[in-house]
Amino acid sequence: MIFQQTLRNKATFSGIGLHTGKTITLTLRPAEAGTGIVFHRIDLAPAVSIEAHASNVVNTRLSTTIGRGDASVSTIEHLMAALYGCGIDNAHVDIDGPEVPIMDGSAAPFVAAIAKAGVKVSGKARKYLVVKKPVTVVEGDKKATIIPSRHYKISFDMQFAHPAVKSQFRSLEFSQESFIGDFAAARTFGFLAEVEMMKSHGLALGGSLENAVVIGDNGVINPEGLRFQDEFVRHKILDSVGDLSLAGHRLIGHVKATKSGHDLNHKLVTELLKRPDCYTLIEFTPQAFNAPFNIGIPELSWLEA
Ligand SMILES: [Zn+2]
Repeated sequence: MIFQQTLRNKATFSGIGLHTGKTITLTLRPAEAGTGIVFHRIDLAPAVSIEAHASNVVNTRLSTTIGRGDASVSTIEHLMAALYGCGIDNAHVDIDGPEVPIMDGSAAPFVAAIAKAGVKVSGKARKYLVVKKPVTVVEGDKKATIIPSRHYKISFDMQFAHPAVKSQFRSLEFSQESFIGDFAAARTFGFLAEVEMMKSHGLALGGSLENAVVIGDNGVINPEGLRFQDEFVRHKILDSVGDLSLAGHRLIGHVKATKSGHDLNHKLVTELLKRPDCYTLIEFTPQAFNAPFNIGIPELSWLEA
């Protein structure tokens, strides 16, 4: 069987929150198999624990926020993407404020810290969520759908009127190597006019060229330029990996997104989880997981050649 994993050691970060501008410290700790990813607001008395699951999402406007009662944690998506990308199923996340630090605007600092902490394999099998029938959510000209596929893939089509972005398309065929190598370092981005407006409304107070790609009238303002020629769509895929991980299981299916964002990602996960006829939960041996066809799992006969 493929088993659930956690961290071998603790990993601690400090950094500012993109929206609050406050310094926040976050510690990842190993967790028992079956725990999932659980955030703990340790600055509150008593501390409030919030499971990173779609059912706990309370806001998707500028980032993905989970909450319980009056307590919440926002901008969880890049950390969630890093945990998923590094194969971490179970972890405690102690945090002393309402927002995950933005770090450099990408998932790379989290990936590096998780790699340094190491990964520990448990004795309990992972259950994969395998999509059996397509599920689609639409909102205006935005669309996200997940269809049956032998592997986890995300294909993203983004279109912006701005000449520095225009339209970008990219596909991730998920593996730890492809996520870490080609997507984890892609940074969040924003348009200068929007950033200035958000700041005037008390938002994006921690935003700077240190933690976001900022696009002005004549293109990217950051002196270092872009990390990838299509960094924007790579970041949209990174966000999707984080948001879709809130399904609570590793996914097997092909996500096709057009102009999607945190809100539609969340709606797709919620719709999928609401429709048990559209998916099945399966444990895999490494051989079956890697076999392209005829993997000998009766529930998956419809996927076989
Ligand atoms: Zn993002």
